[in-house]
Amino acid sequence: MTGHPSSLPLPWHLPFELAWEALRAGSRPVGAVLVDADGRVVAAGRNRSEEASAPPGQLAGTAIAHAEVNALAQLPTGARADDGLRLYTTLEPCLLCSGALMHSHVRHVLYAAPDPQWRGVENVPGVGGLIAERWARREGPVGGPLAAFSRLLMDSWAMARASAAPAAAPDLLDAPTVHAAYAALLPHL
Ligand SMILES: [Zn+2]
Repeated sequence: MTGHPSSLPLPWHLPFELAWEALRAGSRPVGAVLVDADGRVVAAGRNRSEEASAPPGQLAGTAIAHAEVNALAQLPTGARADDGLRLYTTLEPCLLCSGALMHSHVRHVLYAAPDPQWRGVENVPGVGGLIAERWARREGPVGGPLAAFSRLLMDSWAMARASAAPAAAPDLLDAPTVHAAYAALLPHL
């Protein structure tokens, strides 16, 4: 945990910072970070579906420019499950990202909030076979303020898109950093 109670707790602070960046850039506010067995961040990504550019090796401007995909795309071929990688993501992985996790041999996912759009995705391993074998263990939602904050980011994004006005959530978007927004909203989460 970080020292200050109003700060985002570790190791969540980086995925939420990335989600915040995505929101301010007009993309779906989801951030994801891959952490190795020693707790080191080995890759990070965020949704860039509404943006024109991305760092080398990551996707932008396409419906599949998801946070988890952009983080996993940085893993070299050959990284295996026994590397002990864990993915932290602000929102439960969708079917696309769940597939990318299987292809990447990442076996452990921690997510802050459920994604109602993909309700039932946890039933996919019931198909059996390789899908069941490789399906990542899911830990989440974490609940509490983090889950509420994740949902609030998603709601803000949806409101901004519905009105075609990024100012739909002015108080939130005016916050200079994700930590400032979280600290201001914490009493209400
Ligand atoms: Zn996804």
